[in-house]
Amino acid sequence: MTLPFRELVDSAPDGLIVCDQTGTILLVNAEALRMFGYARDELVGSSIDVLVPAGIRPRHHQHVASFVRSSRLRPMGSGLDLHGCRKDGTEFPVEISLSPIESATGMMVTAGIRDITERRALERETRRANAYLTSAVDAVQEAFALFDEQDRVVMVNSAGRQLLGSRLGGSIIGQTFATVLDGALTAGAFDFSDESREALLRRWLAYHAAPSGTLDVRTGTGRYLRVTERKTAEQGTVAMIADVTEDIQHAAELSAARVAAEAASAAKSEFLSSMSHELRTPLNSILGFAQLLERDRKNPLDPRQIERLQYVLRGGEHLLKLIDDVLDLAKIEAGGVTISIEPVGLSEVLGEVVHTLEPLAARAQIRIATQQPTAPPQITADRTRLAQILMNFGSNAIKYGRPGGALVFRVEPKPRTVRVTVIDDGIGIPEHKRDKIFEPFQRAGQEAGPIEGTGIGLTISKRLAEMMEGTVGFKSSEGVGSEFWIEIPVHRDETSEPSATVVTDRGPSLLTTGAAHHLVIYVEDNPSNIAFMRDLMEELPSVELMTAPNAELGLELIRAHLPKLVIMDINLPGMSGFEAVERLRTWPETRAIPVIGLSAAALPKDSLRAKEAGFERYLTKPVKVAELTRALEELLETPPQA
Ligand code: ADP
Repeated sequence: MTLPFRELVDSAPDGLIVCDQTGTILLVNAEALRMFGYARDELVGSSIDVLVPAGIRPRHHQHVASFVRSSRLRPMGSGLDLHGCRKDGTEFPVEISLSPIESATGMMVTAGIRDITERRALERETRRANAYLTSAVDAVQEAFALFDEQDRVVMVNSAGRQLLGSRLGGSIIGQTFATVLDGALTAGAFDFSDESREALLRRWLAYHAAPSGTLDVRTGTGRYLRVTERKTAEQGTVAMIADVTEDIQHAAELSAARVAAEAASAAKSEFLSSMSHELRTPLNSILGFAQLLERDRKNPLDPRQIERLQYVLRGGEHLLKLIDDVLDLAKIEAGGVTISIEPVGLSEVLGEVVHTLEPLAARAQIRIATQQPTAPPQITADRTRLAQILMNFGSNAIKYGRPGGALVFRVEPKPRTVRVTVIDDGIGIPEHKRDKIFEPFQRAGQEAGPIEGTGIGLTISKRLAEMMEGTVGFKSSEGVGSEFWIEIPVHRDETSEPSATVVTDRGPSLLTTGAAHHLVIYVEDNPSNIAFMRDLMEELPSVELMTAPNAELGLELIRAHLPKLVIMDINLPGMSGFEAVERLRTWPETRAIPVIGLSAAALPKDSLRAKEAGFERYLTKPVKVAELTRALEELLETPPQA
């Protein structure tokens, strides 16, 4: 069988060249021809030197000779970058293996040649990528280290080397995690004042074994480090150690600032509540006694005195309104006002508002009218706050109204809301003053005028409306009148009952007829308040008043005399009014005695607390005589509930 020798050699994937010991080419395969760009007859018979770069041709000759002498299989030029030279003179990287062949005509050499241009390019690419990666990792500020599956360091950046490996003798690469950590601890890289060396070592090793989340440590120089380790897909570990000192300091500063802000806000609340108390107590005397003087039937004042007294009353009321508004606004701004949204019958609220405004309107010779559908839908609102808004719109309409004019409350149901518009035919607001009227203390030019005001009413109204998911707005025409409106969401559930109670007219009061006898005990430390109450009770012949200057004595008096009603100041020396009422509620004989609380604190949280403590009523000072007498009538004329 003749071997198809030629075909066999030509189909080899590598270049094959056979030459004799002088370097003359005897045989060359197809791949070698392709690689070097020659035709077969150009190479066969010529020297192998033509395939070698010109620069090394002189030495190449000697290499061939020495190979022939040693005559064993070996790669050529190991450790050197070998190049071939094409016919066109271009060079390319090659890998060559040489083997000797003994033949009858003497020694021959076979060279297997592989073009490694692509491999070299790939190697360059890999080297470049590696260099990129290394310099990127190095550029990272955080310490970075990569451990292989045997927990040995394979890569570390300079920050990592500095932190963990500064005291290791020799390279950190190849060291185990345990060795590196131990070295770093020994070198004093970390702080052991809060935690012993062993405890820190244990903590870190445990974290390293199953890393999740982060691990915080302190350095010997007082910096905070946050370690984040994760397992890699190859079961190695990557560790990042970041210096978070600034973050931690920042967080500490923030939290200190928050604590300070909370303290300041608490101090502000405290200040507001004590302001309220301090200002209201003297006002209590001023308004209380002025009301008594005005009503005094035994020694009635003459018209001139009444007129002057009314200045006192009006001044006091204005001051009171100012205090209330400023406190209210401050509370709203501080987010301290909670509102309770419930289904509200608008007609009732409107009825109360109109009723309250009537005397004011009468004095200003203004008629009040309401326009509303026969069955206006229920709305969802905070009843008291809604009334406050309508009162504010209404009293403005009267204040800035025109004598002989009209004030109209118009109710218009809309698809999802109800709009209440308060319409007056008064002085109106000049156009250039309109944009700021909902901002605090903006009085749209009225600050210089004779009409009293604080410029906060509309601000409060707007904020409150927004808290109830409502909106407010207005239109005005100077010299013609204004319309202020509020829109409030409609209550969706049609089945619920209106929550308001119906106010009914009462016949003549038993208190003033003197047909009964009621003992009332008043616990109060302020002498002028006691004098005021005594004067007031003189108008009620059926009431006998006893007073006690503090809660302890008050409780004794109450248990000894079992009065029909107790009126209790809240801010008492020693035991507070709250505590006193809580005690009364624990004794069977005093449990059912109704108690009216009287306090200068006007903040909503106080009346809530009063309700919880068990007060039947909770009135704020300055006492409104009519309000107090109404409460007395209601509580003294109904038999106590057991
Ligand atoms: P004030 O206590 O001054 O009445 P408000 O906040 O209630 O404060 O109102 C702000 C300003 O808006 C008032 O000072 C007044 O100039 C103007 N204003 C409010 N309501 C009316 C109205 N119905 N007619 C004319 N001007 C009004």
